[in-house]
Amino acid sequence: MHADPEAIGAALAALDTAARRRQRRVIERYPESGDATRAIVNGRLLRVFCANDYLGLAHHPALSAALHAASLRYGTGSGAAHLITGHSRPHQELEEELAGYTGRERALLFSTGYMANLGVLAALAARGETVLEDRLNHASLIDAARLSGARLKRYAHADARAAAGLLEADPRCTMICTDGLFSMDGDLAPLAALAGLARRHRSWLLVDDAHGLGVLGATGRGTLEAAGLQPDAVPLLMGTLGKAFGCFGAFVAADAAVIELLVHAARTYIYTTALPPGVAAAASAALRLAQRESWRRERLHSLVRRFRAGAQALDLHVLASASPIQPLLVGDSARALRLSAALQELGFWVSAIRPPTVPEGTARLRVTLSAAHSDADVDELLAALDRVWRREPPW
Ligand code: PMP
Repeated sequence: MHADPEAIGAALAALDTAARRRQRRVIERYPESGDATRAIVNGRLLRVFCANDYLGLAHHPALSAALHAASLRYGTGSGAAHLITGHSRPHQELEEELAGYTGRERALLFSTGYMANLGVLAALAARGETVLEDRLNHASLIDAARLSGARLKRYAHADARAAAGLLEADPRCTMICTDGLFSMDGDLAPLAALAGLARRHRSWLLVDDAHGLGVLGATGRGTLEAAGLQPDAVPLLMGTLGKAFGCFGAFVAADAAVIELLVHAARTYIYTTALPPGVAAAASAALRLAQRESWRRERLHSLVRRFRAGAQALDLHVLASASPIQPLLVGDSARALRLSAALQELGFWVSAIRPPTVPEGTARLRVTLSAAHSDADVDELLAALDRVWRREPPW
């Protein structure tokens, strides 16, 4: 595109025509201290059903207390990259706790999940090699493969046989990457099959468990635990701190030697300012709460069951998901936007997810649940969905 106002205007008009223009909503405040399920937006109280704060920790007072205390001791900003002066005691402790939590030798903090994925692939995948990815992987994994210079091949969603076919046909394939729990669909990767495949072909397997960690599995250890896999089945685990753990940032957990190599070769680790120390301290507090308060996970899964039973009874088009991500397939982007606006009129904030985030023709309402929601919140959301869905049927 040239630096030309007309070209920019045309690009924006094309977004409008395709119902792809996005609008940010400004949260003025949260009316109840400690409760992230209700927000004031444009002067209206909305019940929030589209955040990733699955365990209801983002507004927990123990997290803000840890953030404040560490900021006083170590500064609000970290001051530099980890390899300069940016790595302080709260970072070190969090890395050690994350290694223990995930059952691995070491963990390495990154400033965001996006950067963690870019960094791992830049370090471990090279030009002339091939990276295999699930077609519905998160954008950061797709971008990571592109940036690494390796050849990117995508297999049909959650189809380990398709992945095997590509792997067998291409001896240069050195890495398989997948989301653990798919962020826009709520379903799971076939991890056991992919792990077997990676082992047989001596290729890396990277699982991005941004949405599964803290939520899935008997003790909340994520999609690996849910699939009954030991850490050694998945050599590279990426997790984020901005979702179930209610903070910000991300990490990669792996063998000590792999992490040592990432410290030297992951450019998004080396050339960026370290997370604020207070955020690291808050994440440690969240990790401890997530382990100690297992009721949060139990509560979340009971709300998931409640929502699914209600949605099925009402004949809403929920996708097959046993996770707190419960998308309702709509199809047409303009209709998804209208349904989201109608829900907002009724006091519910559910975002309309449209292409290019999801494939063409699969726009959806992405409902997400949090342990902080009440049964009545879920029942009232279902009643509102029923009203707007019937007012605007899919046919
Ligand atoms: N991977 C997945 C599957 C995600 O959903 C996200 C966040 N939407 C990321 C990576 C990126 O994480 P972050 O927000 O920390 O950059």
